[in-house]
Amino acid sequence: MSTRDMAAGPRVLLKRLRELMAEPLEPQARLDRIVREIAANMVAEVCSLYVLRADGVLELYATEGLNPGSVHLAQLKLGQGLVGTIAASARPLNLPDAQTHPAFAYLPETGEEIYNSFLGVPVLRAGRTLGVLVVQNRTKRHYRDDELEALETTAMVIAEMIATGDLARLTRPGLELDLRKPVSLAGHSFNDGVGLGHVVLHEPRVVVTNLFNEDSDEEISRLDEALGSLRLSIDDMLSRREVAFEGEHRAVLEAYRMFANDRGWVRRLEEAVRNGLTAEAAVEKVQSDMRARMLHMTDPYLRERMSDFDDLTNRLLRQLMGRGPDLLADTLPKDAIIVARSMGAAELLDYPRDRLRGLVLEDGAATSHVVIVARAMGIPVAGQVPGAVSMAENGDPAIVDGDDGKVHLRPQADLESAYAEKVRFRARRQELYRELRNKPAVTPDGVKVTLLINAGLAVDLPQLAESGAAGIGLFRTELQFMVASTFPRAEAQERLYRDVLDAARDKPVTFRTIDIGGDKVLPYFKNATVEENPALGWRAIRLTLDRPGLLRTQIRALLKAAGGRELRLMLPMVTELSEIAQAREIIDREVRHLSRFAHHLPTSLKLGAMLEVPALMWQLDELMAAVDFVSVGSNDLFQFIVATDRGNTQLADRFDPLSVPFLRVLKQIVDAGERTGTPVTLCGELAGKPISAMALIGIGYRAISMSAAAIGPVKAMVHELPYAALKEMLDDTLSKPARGRNVRRELQSFADAYGIPL
Ligand code: PEP
Ligand code: MG
Repeated sequence: MSTRDMAAGPRVLLKRLRELMAEPLEPQARLDRIVREIAANMVAEVCSLYVLRADGVLELYATEGLNPGSVHLAQLKLGQGLVGTIAASARPLNLPDAQTHPAFAYLPETGEEIYNSFLGVPVLRAGRTLGVLVVQNRTKRHYRDDELEALETTAMVIAEMIATGDLARLTRPGLELDLRKPVSLAGHSFNDGVGLGHVVLHEPRVVVTNLFNEDSDEEISRLDEALGSLRLSIDDMLSRREVAFEGEHRAVLEAYRMFANDRGWVRRLEEAVRNGLTAEAAVEKVQSDMRARMLHMTDPYLRERMSDFDDLTNRLLRQLMGRGPDLLADTLPKDAIIVARSMGAAELLDYPRDRLRGLVLEDGAATSHVVIVARAMGIPVAGQVPGAVSMAENGDPAIVDGDDGKVHLRPQADLESAYAEKVRFRARRQELYRELRNKPAVTPDGVKVTLLINAGLAVDLPQLAESGAAGIGLFRTELQFMVASTFPRAEAQERLYRDVLDAARDKPVTFRTIDIGGDKVLPYFKNATVEENPALGWRAIRLTLDRPGLLRTQIRALLKAAGGRELRLMLPMVTELSEIAQAREIIDREVRHLSRFAHHLPTSLKLGAMLEVPALMWQLDELMAAVDFVSVGSNDLFQFIVATDRGNTQLADRFDPLSVPFLRVLKQIVDAGERTGTPVTLCGELAGKPISAMALIGIGYRAISMSAAAIGPVKAMVHELPYAALKEMLDDTLSKPARGRNVRRELQSFADAYGIPL
């Protein structure tokens, strides 16, 4: 056979298969024709297809050459026989004398004993085995590499057929295909909430097949036109309701607009067209050049920029190939769960909000742009979910549990109804919380608790009113810095702070000066030294005191924004009291500077410190004397007390903050506040869980700050809490030897006994 014929063979076969796929045939008839076609094309006496069922058995679905009566009867377990070995290893087997192979298993019903040579390939889709395709001959022959390749390509077409559900009608009840098996995948919670719906595999890649242009000028004008529509579509997104106001997702889109208008990019595109490429091929070439250059960069900021850029490039490609976002709307289910490896922020905005029920990302970080946008849109998100893309098929029923970071694909009826109930229950609870919104948080025995929210993004602001919280207990100013591409200018900082104070009206807001370093990296601001333990490193107040320009700009912006109102400022990660004194000096200098220029100053300025570093525990009274208030950052304090990285998932549930030692630490702090007349609040995650919020109130905390979504559940708990009884129980627990006590269980029993909703 000449080289040309060898290449023609698979091409002819693929063409025949494509025709067969398009013919209106019953699935079994189609499969029978397919295996016949493959056998004929490959000059094989046998061609058989085995499909993997959910119970781990490979069932013969079609054969040419073996006993036709064995179809749907012959079966092998995963790992059993040659076919099972191929499926289990996802590797082909090419054997001139199959019967001498140690794994060979004889299936008498098939009559295959007369065949000696055997070539089998796995039917793979996105790395997953769906079945095995085999050809056999009587003669002892070794199949050539091009034959192996042809069979593998054919297997891809069959994989497509299985995935689109064509074979589902051939299954018997209880023996569904593996592909239809329910699976639950575990990832991380990126945004709370539960979504039920149907999978939409997000396909960012557009395959360019037309490479060379006939007329460069015409291609340039196509390119210009597409660029024009691209810019318009970005402007359109920027004017949409959910991004129309000032905020970090707006900043992301502004960066897109900058890219789309970048002269360098456009020039490189035009150059590639002039060199003979079509506009789409030029876009792809410039993208892969860029990728190659950035391949070795590990910097998270640049990686994020690259994904913004990929997003933009794909939009341009779709524009050029006439596959605009409008098309999406036509085919999108009403309850779409988008599943993607990773995704650009603008791509998510292409999907109409009212049809989105959830987002699943294989990669991504809680702070990636697409997640920020998803949060702004209020969509549950599970991130870092390995295997999501390969396990999901378009149209599969799916559940995203954003609270737990779990994804359930093709869930069984009972799981689905349990989640549907959870969604209804949530809705009812939300209704209840809305009713509580304007009621104060007071226990039945008259103890008043101030419930505050933690915020940091402009999108969080409406939640202050919606949750009915008493104010913002922690405004994480670093978030504005983290989502920007360069240091936010003084004006942008001032504008955000002013918006925050305006939104809060007369409710108090506590701004924390930027807390970067540790796990919060600013991509454009790098620490020159590589830190072995960044959580214990150059971060928060340590960093800002070393870079006073940064702190000065921020303080000035805060002072100006709070002109005529109260300004509450707090310092993160204080270790020594001298740090407070140094920060105070900087603040005083800024106050003097602004008053010299007759600026409107805050009516009062309260300075607080966060208690996150254990060293402060042995200078509590001095600390209280040095500040106007203290806020316990229980996330960091706990990680330092138990010497356990707060981000290490392996250790996530190993130590419990609701334990005697940690509660004793927290009690000592609040007692010191009481003793010295210094207000103490707590603003870590602990405050947002009703059971731990209950413990905090029991040991003396009267102000706690949490995510806005936690206000309702915590307030509902407060309304049922008999404070005096709880105090008595906790005083007793904490004063006795700690050995063997399970405080969490004791708290749970207490709540059960008094009917407190946790
Ligand atoms: C904390 O450490 O508890 C805290 C509130 O700060 P962050 O979570 O931002 O480090
Ligand atoms: Mg902290």
